[in-house]
Amino acid sequence: MKKKENTQTATYYSIDFANNKVVMLTKDEKQNSWESIPADVYTTISFNELLNDIIEFHTIFSDFENLKERLFSLLTREIALFHNTLKELYDIINNSSKYFTRYYTDYIYNFFLKERASIKAVILERSLKSTIESINNEFDKIRNAINYEYYFNLKSNSCIQVLDWDDIKYVIRSHDRNEIYHKADKLFSHLFYDLSSIIHNKKLHICKCKYCKKYFFGSENNDCCGDTSCKSKHLNILKNEKRRKKSKGPYDIHITALNDYLSQQTFQLKAIVQEDMYYVNKLKSRNGEFRNRLKDEIERCRIENIIPGHDQDIFLHKLEAEIYIYRTQIADEWKSNNHSNI
Ligand SMILES: [Zn+2]
Repeated sequence: MKKKENTQTATYYSIDFANNKVVMLTKDEKQNSWESIPADVYTTISFNELLNDIIEFHTIFSDFENLKERLFSLLTREIALFHNTLKELYDIINNSSKYFTRYYTDYIYNFFLKERASIKAVILERSLKSTIESINNEFDKIRNAINYEYYFNLKSNSCIQVLDWDDIKYVIRSHDRNEIYHKADKLFSHLFYDLSSIIHNKKLHICKCKYCKKYFFGSENNDCCGDTSCKSKHLNILKNEKRRKKSKGPYDIHITALNDYLSQQTFQLKAIVQEDMYYVNKLKSRNGEFRNRLKDEIERCRIENIIPGHDQDIFLHKLEAEIYIYRTQIADEWKSNNHSNI
């Protein structure tokens, strides 16, 4: 968004359907040769960035309404006081990296300046009333223009409108370019209508990512935006859920419990034998045998269509008792061999 003072600028947009992005360009109206426009004045915004930008501006718009009320009370006071308050808008412009937030803020700033300058001292009361009316009307128009629900949540409204506006197009065609730029209206309604039709045809909805909290256009009820880090978090959660479901399945409860018991006994033995792997491996060497005996029992249940229950609990407890005895024997063996060291 480059604006030079004393030059009449116009903003153009081009929608790239295939890559879900919009290219914005603000240029001097008098400059007709598009070839001489430097590449760095083009701003590329993805559909999702645009959505977040408009939602953010929509959210802070109530602050603008409060500021508007404060400015009304300053319209007839010293101009310096009015300008100082108006400067608050410039903090927003300087602190935001969002294209539309910056554009609308800049627009409102200039609009206020113009209206303040139009107040004529001689017929103060009448001109003040018309200034306030004019500012209120402009705020209504902006509020409508940034109503993202209206444009992008196509379930929320149904209406048929006849809109009559000039669509000035710039077509750039050469061997490697084929772009159509539309001249934007000052509040971007054309752009949002064009975009709303694309969003509708692609059957997209306004979604919110539960990981990065950003908004995005996605399939209905989608809660992951698809960015690399969000996607990997999402896949991890799905994997864990799957594992948890699996381990909680009726045919897996006993096997999971036995595995836990074996790890716990190995851990305890390691502490007793002071990490002497000869004894630890002795216990581990029978792990497979204990597991297979339980697996056979569970497999029998599966084949006979029995849900493992009380009988298998007893089977597991017997196995655990056997493991405990075996683990105690190994510990005793270590103690007798290391008697002199204890
Ligand atoms: Zn995300």
